[in-house]
Formats: sequence, C-alpha cells, structure tokens
Amino acid sequence: MSFFHTFVLMNHPFTQSILDWYSCFGRTLPWRGLSDPYAIWLSEIILQQTRIQQGEAYWHRFMKQFPTVEALAAASEDEVLRLWQGLGYYSRARNLHAAAKQIVAAGSFPQSLAGIKALKGVGDYTAAAVGSFAFGLDVAAVDGNVFRVLARYFGIDTPINTTEGKHAFTALAEELLPLGQAASFNQGLMDFGAIQCTPQSPRCTVCPLAESCSALRTGRVEHLPVKLKTLHIQERRLAYIYIRYNGYTPFRRRTAGDIWQGLWEPVELERMTDESLKNSLLKDSVVLAKNVRHVLTHRVLLADFYFLEPAVRPQLPDEFIWIPESSLDDYGKPRLVERLLERL
Ligand code: SF4
Repeated sequence: MSFFHTFVLMNHPFTQSILDWYSCFGRTLPWRGLSDPYAIWLSEIILQQTRIQQGEAYWHRFMKQFPTVEALAAASEDEVLRLWQGLGYYSRARNLHAAAKQIVAAGSFPQSLAGIKALKGVGDYTAAAVGSFAFGLDVAAVDGNVFRVLARYFGIDTPINTTEGKHAFTALAEELLPLGQAASFNQGLMDFGAIQCTPQSPRCTVCPLAESCSALRTGRVEHLPVKLKTLHIQERRLAYIYIRYNGYTPFRRRTAGDIWQGLWEPVELERMTDESLKNSLLKDSVVLAKNVRHVLTHRVLLADFYFLEPAVRPQLPDEFIWIPESSLDDYGKPRLVERLLERL
C-alpha cells in the first residue's frame, strides 16, 4: 500500500465511528484502564478460549492468589493448574506459568511486540493486545470479532481461517489504526463485534455504520465472514472407575503427549492393558453414567463412569497413588473428572 493509501485509510470514517461508539458503549472490564502489563496479559491468556463472564471470575482469583508475576512464577505447577481448574485448555495454564518464569528471569515485562511474542503461549493476537493495551504500541489486535466486523463492513469474502485471510484482515486493521489510539481502537472494534455486529442477529437497524456497510447494502450480512470448513472432529471413548478403599482413592497424573497433561485422573479402563485386572475391577463396580459427552476443541469424548468399593485393596500399576478423598481438592483435575465426582 502506498503512503497515500495508508493516509486515506487511517482517516477512514470507519475508524472515527468505532472510536465514538467505544467511548459511549465500550464494556467496563476490571483490567481495562490498568497499566500493569501482568494483569492485562493474564486477562488475555484467560480470555483466549473463555467467555468474558467466566474469565472475569478466574482473573480475580488469579490476581488475588498471585498479585504479581513474581508470585505466579514462584508457585508450583500444581497450584497454577488447580486454580485454572474448570477453564479447560490446560496448556494455557502451563504456558502462563512458564512465561511468568521467563519474565522474572528477564528482570521485567517485555515492552516490544517481539519481546511479548517471545513469551510462551503468546501468539500474534495476544502480543498485539498486550502491547497496545499496556504500552500503547501502534499495532492492531485482530480477533474473531474484528474479522467479522471488517469482513461485513468492507464486504470481504476471503475466508478468515486461511493464511491469506489472516494477512489481508490484519493488514486492513493496521491501515485503519489511528496512531496513538491503538488501545481504544482495538478494544472498540472487539466490543463492537461482541455487542453490535454479533455473529447471529447483528443489530443493523441501530448500527452507526449501517449507511456505509457493504454487507448490509448488498444483503450479505448472514454470509460474511466466510470460513472454510476444515476441522475434522474425532471421537474418543474413556471409561473411568472411581475406587474407594478406606477413605482413599487411586489417581494418577497424566503425562505429556496427550490431552490434560499434568492433571490428575482416576483409573481409566480403556487404556488399561491388563485385561484380568480390568475385568476384576468392572465385575463388582456400579455404573454411575454411560456415554457422558464432553466436547474439546478437536474431539468429542464419550465417557462411562463406574464406582467400586472393594473389600480388598486392588493392586494397580505404579503410576497410581492412593490419595485421601478429603484431599482431592488439592489436585488439579480435568472438567470431565469433576463431572464424575459430582455424580458420586
Ligand atoms: S450494519 Fe450490521 S453488518 Fe454492518 S457493521 Fe453494522 S451491525 Fe455489522
């Protein structure tokens, strides 16, 4: 793009409309207006795959228990996972913890876009969001809301989940960005997408951009943005058996290379290779639930839950430790395991 083109877009009426709308209708969130990069970064990591309402409660919990990046870095991984419990996508919590250690080792929070992006678990969007909100860097933060608003307003049908689409929409957002006001523009665009130009039933009749919106003019609001269907959802079976013996229950910690790394779970029968042990456990167990459906990003889990209270303590593989049931809360567990515990 030429300088002239850049200049024209920077002064595009779209930009001013978003800034005006934001000053009237922007959301009030506890981390907005703060200048502490730790608090802002924490909010962005939590919100990566979580709705704001749920994320807010977790942000408060983390800020209370770990008010500084030093406190988070000094915590054990178990403590962090435990606090994260229920949010899902646990790699976020592990990366958050690792990045806190990176920051403490470096001596301060990185202030450049490249420095922020070098933190574990931080991609283009999060780096731009933290950089613009905490340090006023002139960079566009392009999330799903921004893709949608730009695609509709400018009538762009390039699929948003392709490399070409990501580049095109990011370049457009950069062109529109008003220098020195990146935080308000980014937040305004996101809020506009979340509140006004929503995925379903956008509020076009009361939209300040309605007169110049390409999608509205050409009747394509429902068809934009375009997304290629590429995801293949896998189904996977699990069968958990909760064993109670003298107030203790066997749990193991999940290892690397699979979902829920580092979290704790009871005996899982589908992966058990010792058939005679499996049959002896199942023989006297009670069924708590069958085919419990649990949805993760790229897979659907179907789980059976069993309960067993044996007269003799069963011999289990070494990876299991017997935990007092009263201390189960001290162990970080996947949401699916929590659902099993809820049924006991
Ligand atoms: S007119 Fe409708 S589609 Fe266009 S920007 Fe406004 S809310 Fe979105």
